Amino acid sequence: MAGTVKDAILRGRKTIEDVVEGGLNTVETVVEAGLNTVDTVVDKGRQTVESAVSLGRRTVEQRFLHGGSTMRAAVLHGREDIRIEQVPVPEAKPGELIVQVGAALTCGTDLKVFRRGYHARMIVPPALFGHELAGTVVQAGEGVEGFAPGDRVVALNSAPCGVCYFCERGQENLCDDLLFNNGAYAEYIRIPERIVKKNTLRVPDHVPLEHAALTEPLACAVHGFVDSKPRAGDTVAVIGGGPLGLMILHVAALAGYQVIALVRHDGQVEAARQLGAAHVVQTTNIRKAIRDTRALTPKERGVDIAIEAVGVPEAWQEAVELVRKGGTVNFFGGCAADTKVTLDTNRIHYSDITLRATFHHTPAICREALALIAGGRFQAGAFITGHAHLYELNRVFEKLMNRSSEIKTAIVP
Ligand SMILES: [Zn+2]
Ligand SMILES: [Zn+2]
Repeated sequence: MAGTVKDAILRGRKTIEDVVEGGLNTVETVVEAGLNTVDTVVDKGRQTVESAVSLGRRTVEQRFLHGGSTMRAAVLHGREDIRIEQVPVPEAKPGELIVQVGAALTCGTDLKVFRRGYHARMIVPPALFGHELAGTVVQAGEGVEGFAPGDRVVALNSAPCGVCYFCERGQENLCDDLLFNNGAYAEYIRIPERIVKKNTLRVPDHVPLEHAALTEPLACAVHGFVDSKPRAGDTVAVIGGGPLGLMILHVAALAGYQVIALVRHDGQVEAARQLGAAHVVQTTNIRKAIRDTRALTPKERGVDIAIEAVGVPEAWQEAVELVRKGGTVNFFGGCAADTKVTLDTNRIHYSDITLRATFHHTPAICREALALIAGGRFQAGAFITGHAHLYELNRVFEKLMNRSSEIKTAIVP
């Protein structure tokens, strides 16, 4: 009897254990299969949605770019005559990019062109206008390598040919066939194949597009400074408180040089100080500027390097008077055509003064300039003193002509 009861209990327990275990397995299998099914559904659903969104976006973009649609753009018609017009959205030919302009910056060169109505080498009206920009690629032409829609880029205003006498000697800024691009004051801009290949740079994520747009003028500034061959401990005088003068002084100060800024206008004094000038000489009297600057150097011997960034003959002559024996002068500012300067030959010869001039930039220096902007020490924000819509461009230039304290205005289309 005892045996039967014990048997029954054991068999009963076994049966229960079997049932429980079987049940557990079944439940686990069901749960797992169910999970898989749900995951697959979610995953499939997401893919479908994502591809629909991406396809839809591409379709819209394609339609926008190819559908003969128009965009707002500034067109230069002549002297002080910029009109905001509806023009066809450009379309990328093989090797080209279409960039949606994020920000375009005003520049002294554009101001000159606005005043004169043309620029012999860079722009002949009627023409799209503006050359300092950064934006987002919306279309890449056939065969473009390294760039795709969505990429944030800064496209420089020119690119050298790479095969002429000057390019082969590393003086690409003097290229016989420098290709210029204009049209930054617009919603979209076409980037020609040569600029895509040689002078279009990817903008790091943390750099705002309007800061990246400073790459072009900064490249000119870096070039001018480096070309002046500074030596450790040098004192550098920079004549001119315009955007380029301020950039050169900032570059020199960041590199650890003592900088004396020579400016005319009140607004430029504060900017020069903020950007690292050790001394600011403010005067419209050239004799006084020379005296005051020399007085800031030991035994009034003069500065080691003087960089002229105004672009008038009087300032070129002033620069020569600022340097010490054995000093270097860089005529950085371009003067109007057919102007001449008178220089004291004895002073230049017996004081062993080096005279040089720097024009434009090279692809290598453009890369250096963007790295400087991305590096964090360069005060990009200080150079952009205003924002305006494309429609306000005329007003912005009129204001710049009246020598306002604005450094650069970011034009946002
Ligand atoms: Zn410029
Ligand atoms: Zn060339």
